Amino acid sequence: MKKNNIDIFITGAGLAGLLASIAFSRKGFSVVCIDKIDIKNHIDNNSKSFRTTAFLEPSKKFFEEIGIWTEIKKYSCPMNSLKLVDTKLLNDHLTITASKTFSNESSDTLGWNIKNNDMIKALFEVAKKEKNISLFSNTTIEVFEINDEFVEITLSNKKQFNAKLIVGSDGRDSFIRNELNIKSTTKALGQNALTFGIQHEKSHNNISNEIYYSGGPFTTVPIKNNSDENYSSVVWMDEENATNNLMKLDKTSFEKEINKRSADILGHLKLVSEPQLWKMRTQVAKRLISFRAVIIAEAAHVLPPIGAQGFNMSINDIKCLLKKSIKNKYKLGEPRMLLSYERERLVDMNFRVSSVSLLNYFSKTDNPFLKIIRSSSIKYLFNFNPLKSTIMKLGLGSQ
Ligand SMILES: Cc1cc2nc3c(=O)[nH]c(=O)nc-3n(C[C@H](O)[C@H](O)[C@H](O)COP(=O)(O)OP(=O)(O)OC[C@H]3O[C@@H](n4cnc5c(N)ncnc54)[C@H](O)[C@@H]3O)c2cc1C
Repeated sequence: MKKNNIDIFITGAGLAGLLASIAFSRKGFSVVCIDKIDIKNHIDNNSKSFRTTAFLEPSKKFFEEIGIWTEIKKYSCPMNSLKLVDTKLLNDHLTITASKTFSNESSDTLGWNIKNNDMIKALFEVAKKEKNISLFSNTTIEVFEINDEFVEITLSNKKQFNAKLIVGSDGRDSFIRNELNIKSTTKALGQNALTFGIQHEKSHNNISNEIYYSGGPFTTVPIKNNSDENYSSVVWMDEENATNNLMKLDKTSFEKEINKRSADILGHLKLVSEPQLWKMRTQVAKRLISFRAVIIAEAAHVLPPIGAQGFNMSINDIKCLLKKSIKNKYKLGEPRMLLSYERERLVDMNFRVSSVSLLNYFSKTDNPFLKIIRSSSIKYLFNFNPLKSTIMKLGLGSQ
């Protein structure tokens, strides 16, 4: 069987794997990307999903740099500011006790929001047309062996490749990470996130609202719509029991709960998609590299969806790996290059993981004392509070 020599082999064609494939291809590297699922079917089956990803300004700049912003922009809704809202229960209604709006001082937008399925579709369409990318669905790795010069890979479709670098972007239960024997620190959070779409009475005005009460934030994120109607996606985090009970409700009862929990920020809400449930955990890999191998995105880090960090961090992984790969100082896949990648990414990763864990802790608290701190932070102290700088640093995606 003929073995093909390639530069980079990528396992996993989710958001991160597809984006990494395009980014490397556009810089002239030859790429093979595989996924164990049928990507086209996956896109068709998820056309009604309202799970979205908010990406921040630096991520948009990266899309511009690699020449795919036009394809992504047509599905994306600008998010001009983020409003933090604290509430308390009064006569069975959530009443706002404090709120604060943040914008990006150096740009009109803080970020953009896109349905995951639209993003995958856009990236898949671009990747299919790239002459430097070979993309295989329904395919897994049968064997891979790492030697000094390259990684020898045999696929389930019997194709064989010699790659200078293998990249694991195969998600939170990464096969590559396990095969490389890289350990992770994992913490179950006892929380789930519900995602769904809403149509609402008031305009979203391109604002994302993060509404605190207990159990986790209820976050609305504006969605691009082609009519006069107003749509947003919602990520509602709460304790496992609470979300499991919500999932059992019929549409009318569920709508009643979301209208109560949203504190009337967007007026009356109607549910426009089936709620989906996601289990929350924090998971951080102890190493990001091995010989001629690297892990990126959720294979390396998993966070609760607070402050839109997950995929934005993955874009930082890709940007960093690309920068090291095109630097004349290094040969692709050599240990010095990978060590330099790991050193840089671990610093950013650890900062974001601890910041998001802190924000999650404050956002879900039922402790009356911490609730007072949270409300006062939002109301009075944000101008000099470290929480403000953390949120802004996270929100602006700075490194
Ligand atoms: C509710 C929710 C809301 C979120 N909101 C945001 C947000 O607003 N902003 C943000 O930045 N992030 C957000 N995130 C995080 C973001 O969605 C994830 O970081 C991102 O989707 C993960 O992409 P990925 O490509 O790393 O992993 P995945 O999407 O899991 O992709 C991994 C791919 O690898 C494939 N695969 C797995 N194993 C193998 C194998 N052995 N062989 C071949 N292929 C394999 C899988 O089929 C899959 O296609 C959110 C997350 C959640 C849960």
